Amino acid sequence: MKKKSFIRLFVDFPLEVGKVLPLSDAQSHYLIHVMKLKINDNVLVFDGQNGEFLAFVTQISKKEVILSVLEKTRAFCSCPDIWLLFAPLKKDQTDFVVQKATELGVARIMPVITQFSITEKAKTERFKAQAIEACEQCRRLDVPTICEPIQLLKLLDNWDKGRTLFFLDETRQAQSVSQVFSWAKEQNIHHAALLVGPEGGFSAEELDMLRALKFAKGVALGPRILRAETAAAAALACWQAMCGDWDENYLA
Ligand code: SAM
Repeated sequence: MKKKSFIRLFVDFPLEVGKVLPLSDAQSHYLIHVMKLKINDNVLVFDGQNGEFLAFVTQISKKEVILSVLEKTRAFCSCPDIWLLFAPLKKDQTDFVVQKATELGVARIMPVITQFSITEKAKTERFKAQAIEACEQCRRLDVPTICEPIQLLKLLDNWDKGRTLFFLDETRQAQSVSQVFSWAKEQNIHHAALLVGPEGGFSAEELDMLRALKFAKGVALGPRILRAETAAAAALACWQAMCGDWDENYLA
């Protein structure tokens, strides 16, 4: 397949063979002016629900690219049901968390407001765009759900007790990640969430509350204090390695 066919684009409508796809202005601009695509060049497209398809450029004007879907190249499969709850950080660090969480296969990204959160705002539209870009790059076939920010206490008051919550605890009062995730594997836990604190950490009251929850378990990631964004990526990588259901055909 020619180099250009490795461009992957997410399209937000259901795909099927034979469908004609008028692309968005931004996507058209990218293909025309950045990737210099020409008529008949190939593009891979995915819609987050039906798998991946090979398409080709049928029409190209100064402002618009129209693709036609040729064939299905990969069947749909979704990532394991792991969520990431994180307290929004400074812009670049938050961008990093969203991008790495998407690459590491989270199904849902939930900004949570904690006592020491530096902000109560979360630019979810920006997060969605970053998540899509990360999906296009890492060959994901599904796109993580991005939620609106919510107070941690309110979220936990309505928590589905069938979903285990692993909170990242650097205060040396939690078992190591290998012990906890080995336990999760033995218990066959498939619906889980990871919670990482803000730059200032969880408050003592929050940690007491988390430790008292039957559905929650603390996780230690080693002897050093990690930045929140490092902790999120490290914990997700451990989860993927120890508990993630890898679909062998995933990168077929
Ligand atoms: N309490 C930290 C301090 O003393 O500087 C500040 C919090 S740390 C920068 C941000 C978050 O990353 C923590 O709330 C925790 O969720 C996670 N974290 C950092 N290091 C960790 C570790 N070694 N084990 C588990 N979680 C960690």
